[in-house]
Amino acid sequence: MIKLPNRIHLANLPTRIERLDRLSKELGGPQIFIKRDDQTGSEISGNKIRKLEYVIQEALDQNCNYLITCGGIQSNHARATAAASSKLGLRSCVVLRSSGNDSLEGNYFLNKVLGADIEFISPEDYKERRMEIMDEIKARLIKEGHRPYIIPEGASNGIGTFGYYTAMEEILEQEKNMGIKFDAIVLATGSGGTYSGMFLANKLLGHGTKIFGINICDNAPYFQDRIYGILQESFSYIDKTIDFSKNEIEIIDGYVGEGYAQSTSEELEFIHYLAKLEGVILDPVYTGKAMYGLVNEIKKGNFNKYKNILFIHTGGLFGLFSKKDLFFS
Ligand SMILES: *Cc1c(COP(=O)(O)O)cnc(C)c1O
Repeated sequence: MIKLPNRIHLANLPTRIERLDRLSKELGGPQIFIKRDDQTGSEISGNKIRKLEYVIQEALDQNCNYLITCGGIQSNHARATAAASSKLGLRSCVVLRSSGNDSLEGNYFLNKVLGADIEFISPEDYKERRMEIMDEIKARLIKEGHRPYIIPEGASNGIGTFGYYTAMEEILEQEKNMGIKFDAIVLATGSGGTYSGMFLANKLLGHGTKIFGINICDNAPYFQDRIYGILQESFSYIDKTIDFSKNEIEIIDGYVGEGYAQSTSEELEFIHYLAKLEGVILDPVYTGKAMYGLVNEIKKGNFNKYKNILFIHTGGLFGLFSKKDLFFS
């Protein structure tokens, strides 16, 4: 057994694994299952809370009482951080990327309800100097007598990796109980931490499944580099490393569509289709694009060699509300 860093317990775990029988039948390919990480909680829902369990423990170990993080205007990560902070009696500051005139909707609205401080920065500043900006906020808070801790975008860093390491352990246990083996696991990739954790556990626990990330922004080489870096950082928390090459990081490119958080009508129609067919609602930024991608890859025959595919529903429902005017139009 590998000794993992400590964590606090905030998420509702284990999350269920459900069969998508009607979708599988319509496609006539592999059996598709879905792991409901959209149901890790309500205020804290989605994949970020698994990573935050490790990250926030580290903040608490350092006696911090103020969490600073960043994300897009509809960031699920920022909202989960704000919710977890309030739950634990901490304060939070979320730095959100905005080009102005965003409607008070979805996660942005919930950040306000949860009492987070909100700071807006431009897309350019977000890209070029979000870390500097968070450092400035940190310095200001220290002057005011607080003990701040910075969480990078998506909690996708070395310590955050263990959130999905633990999720992989959970999947192994569920496989045993279900008497089944998932020969491919598919998930949306946005900042790389979810993929990193699953990849690390897949290697260290000797599971040997295929893990596919479908990127929802940037491109495959970008994520191979980013995930490679996150993994290197994660090794400093355990007394083990893994041997791997960047090429083993399998990113399926081609489903970014019109760009991060931009929806095409095909993507929104797909979300509507799956909701009617299976009663599962995907989000427009991550899971909608990733599942759309998976279904397309199955249709192309690229998943013919797999029997049981597990798709991770990483959450994001609140983000759908900001797109309501684009539906049914
Ligand atoms: C952040 C997020 C992802 C992507 O996870 P990463 O670890 O950032 O790659 C996927 N789905 C949802 C709903 C998210 O909020």
